[in-house]
Amino acid sequence: MGSPLYRDTGVVLRTYKLGEADRIVVILTENHGKVRAVAKGVRKTMSKFGARLEPLSHVRLLMYQGRELDIVSQAESVETLAPLVGDLDHLTAGLAMVEAVDQMALDREPSPQLYRMLVGALRTMGARNSPLMVSAFYWKLLSAEGVRPELDECVRCGAPEPFVSFDVLQGGVCCRACRSGAPLSVDALDVMRMILGGRLNEALDLPAGPIVHEVAGHANRALEHHLERRLRTVAMFESH
Ligand SMILES: [Zn+2]
Repeated sequence: MGSPLYRDTGVVLRTYKLGEADRIVVILTENHGKVRAVAKGVRKTMSKFGARLEPLSHVRLLMYQGRELDIVSQAESVETLAPLVGDLDHLTAGLAMVEAVDQMALDREPSPQLYRMLVGALRTMGARNSPLMVSAFYWKLLSAEGVRPELDECVRCGAPEPFVSFDVLQGGVCCRACRSGAPLSVDALDVMRMILGGRLNEALDLPAGPIVHEVAGHANRALEHHLERRLRTVAMFESH
């Protein structure tokens, strides 16, 4: 065992109350995975780090490792990732991203790639407004988890284009003969290829409208399906 004291950098995903004055902070750290830590006294006024430990805060931390909960000893702000107060669209998008990461990340399992993706996405969000920000992040997240959707051949029979539907259960596009899942338009398929094929900026430039809406629907269903399936797998392991 090394020292129980460690330093890391992280993004606050979520917080909840603990007792009268304390708060539990769930943080995605760069090197220690998802960590749950107690921040003592944060809910008192004049707390030394209250405002620095809100969801979306990007902080440099000094922590004591505990058995279940770590303890935040120091927290200093790296940068402001949270949007300006009053920008509700940005805030909602940012919270949707950290919520997805909270569900995806495993406790104390280092995942520097996930950390970098989240910080990158939140910085991008701060710099530009895009109605596709959250959906694009969901697709990238799924892809990083190893469940990149099949977009180039029918997921059931291997047939080439045209494709007419997207099936989250199968994990990809379907040809007319195999169609299952939700209808897929040619334009939405094109946008999904942009997001996953290295043309993210082009996708983020698209205006709000039916195509963006359709891509968001596929992304939400794909993320939900993945999280549910993983929950079932975890439940199966735990019941043995
Ligand atoms: Zn087919």
